[in-house]
Amino acid sequence: MQEEMAMRICPECGRRHEERLDACPECGTSFEPEPEAMPPWRPLANVYRAPDEIAAIAVKYVLEGAGITSWARSIQIPWYDNLMKFARGYWGDILVAEEDREDALRVVGEYLDRVAGRA
Ligand SMILES: [Zn+2]
Repeated sequence: MQEEMAMRICPECGRRHEERLDACPECGTSFEPEPEAMPPWRPLANVYRAPDEIAAIAVKYVLEGAGITSWARSIQIPWYDNLMKFARGYWGDILVAEEDREDALRVVGEYLDRVAGRA
């Protein structure tokens, strides 16, 4: 992880701000993390329940390294971020195409074993 804060630019007003924010502090535009739209024409399988966004990004990265495309689906609602985390106890799910399910579960399982082994 870089020490430097990740920044992004509001598509509405162009203001720079920290990437971790869910909405622009200037104009209130919500930043739903949807750079990759979920393909509704493919059946998706849930392969990992992420406790937080960092874990979700890590698992997505691991899957990408194994050549498996994945999508993160956050259950969080902007503005009620902390409340939702408290209520549900997890951040969201990592989904893959149904045909990649077995490979993805194996890759994620191996990754989680490695992480647990280092702890
Ligand atoms: Zn803005």
